[in-house]
Amino acid sequence: MTPDERLRELALRHAAFAWLDRQRAAGKETFTQADTSGLALGGETLRLMPTQQGIWKPGQLEAALSFRTVYRPEGTDRPYDDNIDPDGFHRYKMRGDDPNHFENRALRAAMVERLPLIWWLGVQGGGYSALYPIYLINEEPLEMQFVVDIEAVPQPDIVWPSVDLELDPSYRQQLAKIRLHQRPFRAAVLRAYRTSCSICSFRHSDLLDAAHIHEDGAGGLPVITNGLTLCKMHHAAYDRRIIGITPDYEIRVNRDVLEEVDGPMLRHGIQEFHGKPLMVLPERRTHRPDRTLLDARYQRFLDAG
Ligand SMILES: [Zn+2]
Repeated sequence: MTPDERLRELALRHAAFAWLDRQRAAGKETFTQADTSGLALGGETLRLMPTQQGIWKPGQLEAALSFRTVYRPEGTDRPYDDNIDPDGFHRYKMRGDDPNHFENRALRAAMVERLPLIWWLGVQGGGYSALYPIYLINEEPLEMQFVVDIEAVPQPDIVWPSVDLELDPSYRQQLAKIRLHQRPFRAAVLRAYRTSCSICSFRHSDLLDAAHIHEDGAGGLPVITNGLTLCKMHHAAYDRRIIGITPDYEIRVNRDVLEEVDGPMLRHGIQEFHGKPLMVLPERRTHRPDRTLLDARYQRFLDAG
């Protein structure tokens, strides 16, 4: 690839990322083939998602732009987990059994040229969430797979506990799983709650989180029934056990906080929800919070006083 060709590759990719950034800033978390096709980007008409197979190389580009992993319904396995190695990097299987199939060559070209790609991750309930920019950093020919690095993907909602990686080698793998799940989990949970805080029904997506009932770092599954859409305020209050949610979907406020005297934020934002039912729940019953998980979390709220 000549320097000019590489620049052109980068320009179109960055235009695609900027478009995705704008969509996500406007609250769009889940994408389909239809709404990522025919985009006017960088003077070209571009499609961002593969149609049939898992790998997509647009005609205008020399290297693959994106690849896709479909959502697998949860059983005991967490979706996408099978290809995360202890080194903390993900693996993406080549197409078919010919490493020189043109789609595999297109992925290899992105690896050799260090070009950023989009990884489309299937979202529970339909559509895809976009993980970008990601890089292919190695090829494992025997296993017919590429090594995927998602370190460059911004992850604003995660607070990383400090851990000595030498002492706990599985931690790196755990972090890699959390990073990968975070975006499709958010997309699925926000859609199920119609982009509204389940406690107060606040609707600004950039101030909403997909909260885990059983925490991700503690083995909680990244599935809708282990999630709640909460605004930043109520997410923090839930994590700090100021607010609890009963298995019957009712809100409780910590006794001390209930008696505290402060301004309108405490009164209207916290205290007045005590004893009320959740304002927003998923329409589909099978998407509603798992009562067993809520109960376990609620017991810890009670223990905290
Ligand atoms: Zn709220």
